[in-house]
Amino acid sequence: MKTIGYAAHASEKPLEPYHFERRALRDEDVSIEILYCGVCHSDLHTAENDWGWTQYPVVPGHEIVGRVLEVGSGVTKYKVGDHVAVGCMVDSCLSCDQCHQGEEQFCREGMVGTYSGQDRISGELTQGGYSKHIVVREEFVLRVPKGLDLAKCAPILCAGITTYSPLRTWNVGPGSRVAVIGLGGLGHMAIKIAAAMGAHVTAISRSDKKKQQVLSYGAKELLVSSDEAVMQAHANQFDLIINTIPVKHDFTPYMPLLDIDGTQVLVGQVGELAESNSVPMLLGRRRVAGSLIGGIAQTQEILDFCALHNILPEVEMIKMDEINDAFDKLKQGDMASRFVIDMSSLDV
Ligand code: NDP
Ligand code: ZN
Repeated sequence: MKTIGYAAHASEKPLEPYHFERRALRDEDVSIEILYCGVCHSDLHTAENDWGWTQYPVVPGHEIVGRVLEVGSGVTKYKVGDHVAVGCMVDSCLSCDQCHQGEEQFCREGMVGTYSGQDRISGELTQGGYSKHIVVREEFVLRVPKGLDLAKCAPILCAGITTYSPLRTWNVGPGSRVAVIGLGGLGHMAIKIAAAMGAHVTAISRSDKKKQQVLSYGAKELLVSSDEAVMQAHANQFDLIINTIPVKHDFTPYMPLLDIDGTQVLVGQVGELAESNSVPMLLGRRRVAGSLIGGIAQTQEILDFCALHNILPEVEMIKMDEINDAFDKLKQGDMASRFVIDMSSLDV
């Protein structure tokens, strides 16, 4: 199928309109008309090749919401017209221990990313959601529950699952004391989800500019990370810290905020970190961990959780041709919300 999207052709080039082919429908495939796509900081990292593994041209976008256009002969879960979603993965082996446990993101053969990945059958480059259409095998298609606002729910597919997954791994619930560092796309969802789980949530930011916003999302207070007195006053107060900072940094200054046996989960920076210090880890048996998106079943779970608890991402809707300006704004990190592209603004 012929389609159109916006692609980066090199790290220093802006995204521009790109005509390309989506694969012909296989028996297990669902063909989707994309209605909305969220703008994740990973899209920007990939377009600019910050991680060194981008394959160009790349059509970014892995927070995809749309409508089923056509289904292959073997598809049983979806029918034409259904509202569906696609997140960060579009395939995996589905037969290893990790896939069997619903942890397709850790597939032993490697999961196939929604963009800049390689199709397991044809070997062609996968292309993401900044486009009119996508073709994805049924197992990697999610159902948008009734009651979730289609225009706002796209960020759940990455920002939502990436923060929900560690909150589940570390058993957050009523009474848990959770801090969230970096109040952007991931951070603002972490606050909303942890608050809905009954946790006491504290936001940590570079300034107090986002305070009113994040209090309205369910945080109880905001700590400014450069204020040493405030940081010291909050020592030993948290069970779990979700760190979404998207650049090289030292996680050490946040460790003393954790109580004994507490964990700081790094989900933001992918790659090199600044030099760190083990003392706050030794002194409180505190841990540092990582977490990568979440499995398909858990992604469906967070979509359903958001519908049940009336959680919606804070969305700033943009047109497709505004994407390069949106990337510039994302770099500044001033938003406690997510850009979402209204795909009706892209003409075939
Ligand atoms: P955003 O840009 O929306 O938010 C990041 C936030 O981090 C900003 O709002 C800002 O918050 C803070 N920040 C920005 N720059 C700096 C800086 N130089 N120093 C300290 N803090 C800073 O990004 P996303 O939430 O979309 O993504 C965050 C990171 O998570 C990205 O690196 C992305 O690639 C990664 N990611 C990882 C996933 C995983 O599976 N582990 C999945 C998805 C994304 P404030 O102003 O409050 O300080
Ligand atoms: Zn993402």
